[in-house]
Amino acid sequence: GREIRLKSRPQGEPTRANFELTEVSLPEPAEGQLLVRNHFMSVDPYMRGRMNDAKSYVPPFQLGQALDGGAVGEVLRSRSPDFKEGDFVVGNGGWREYNVGDAKGYAKVDPKLAPLQAYLGVLGMPGHTAYVGLLDIGKPVKGETVFVSAAAGAVGGLVGQIARLKGCRVVGSAGSDEKVKHLREKLGFDEAFNYKSGPTAEALERTCPEGIDIYFDNVGGEQLEAAIGKMNNFGRIALCGAISQYNATTPPPGPRNLFLAVSRRLTLRGFIVSDHRDQFPTFLRDMSGWLREGKVSLEETVVDGIEQAPEAFIGLLRGQNTGKMVVRLASS
Ligand code: NDP
Repeated sequence: GREIRLKSRPQGEPTRANFELTEVSLPEPAEGQLLVRNHFMSVDPYMRGRMNDAKSYVPPFQLGQALDGGAVGEVLRSRSPDFKEGDFVVGNGGWREYNVGDAKGYAKVDPKLAPLQAYLGVLGMPGHTAYVGLLDIGKPVKGETVFVSAAAGAVGGLVGQIARLKGCRVVGSAGSDEKVKHLREKLGFDEAFNYKSGPTAEALERTCPEGIDIYFDNVGGEQLEAAIGKMNNFGRIALCGAISQYNATTPPPGPRNLFLAVSRRLTLRGFIVSDHRDQFPTFLRDMSGWLREGKVSLEETVVDGIEQAPEAFIGLLRGQNTGKMVVRLASS
C-alpha cells in the first residue's frame, strides 16, 4: 500500500512539495490489532497546526513519517475478539491505503445507515463538533439569530442546519457566490453572504437587523471582530476554529472591540470536540435520526486517490470544498 509522509514543514500555505508519496509493505497485525483497508480518508483544517513544530492539543506530525487522521475502511484481518473480517470501522489510520492499528482505536460503523464517508463528516468528528458547539456552548433558543462562518464547510453547514431545526434564524458566510446560493437554496439558511465581496460588518448590518445571539466562529479575524460588533446582550460565541489564521507566519492582531464582551455581557468559549466523547452516542442518535428523516443533508466534496490527498488538503484551506472534504482510496 501507499502512504503520504510529511517531507518538510510548510511555511505559510502548504504546497505539494511538503508531502511525499511512498510505497510501504505492511507488518502483520499483532495480538489486539487490525489490518484495515481504508476506503475514505479525511483531510481537516486542524492538520495544518500539526504540520508546525509547535506544542498544541495534538502532537505535531513528524518529518519523514506518515501523517495520520480520520479514515473509514474494511477490516481485512482481525486479531481482536471485538472485530471480524469484513467489519467496517472508523479510526485514525488515514493518509495511507492500508493501516495496521490497535483495535482499541477503532469503532464499528454501519454502512447501511449512511455511506461510509458520512462517518468522517455528518456522523463523525465534524458533525459532533457542530452539535456540541452549537447546543452546549451556543444554547440556542427558538427565535434567536445564529451567525456561522465557513458556513458551507463540514462543520458550518451542520451548525446552520441544526440551528434551523431548533427554530433559530440562521445567517451564514462563505467565500463564493455559489456557496452563498447553496446555503440559501439547499441548506435552508435564512440569509447568507460572500465575505469576500465586502466588509463583514456591513453584511451583518444588512443580514442581522436584530443583532446576533449566537456566533459560531470557524474563522477568527475580521469576521470575529464584526460579529462581536453585532452581538446582542448576553450573546454567546462558540470559538471553534480560526482558519483565517492557520497559514499565518506572524500572529494577527486580536479583535479590537473586545471590550464589548464586557459591556454586552457576552460569553466567549473555546472548545475541543474530543473533550466531549461522553456525548458522542447522544449526538449519533440525534444526527442519524435527522439524516434519516431528511432534516439534515449529507454534503461532501470527494477527491480520488491517495496521490491527490495533498491537493485535497491544500484545496480545503483554499475553500475548494462544499461540505466535508474527503479522499476516496477504494470503492466498496
Ligand atoms: P471546512 O469544511 O469548513 O473547510 C474549511 C473552509 O474554511 C473552507 O472551505 C473555506 O471556505 C474556509 N476558509 C478558508 N480560508 C478562510 C479564510 N481566510 N477566511 C474565512 N474562511 C476561510 O472545515 P471544517 O468544517 O472541518 O472546519 C471548520 C472549522 O472548525 C475550522 O476552523 C476547524 O479548525 C474547526 N474545527 C474545530 C474543532 C474543535 O474541536 N474545536 C473540530 C473540527 C473542526 P470558504 O470558501 O467559505 O472560504
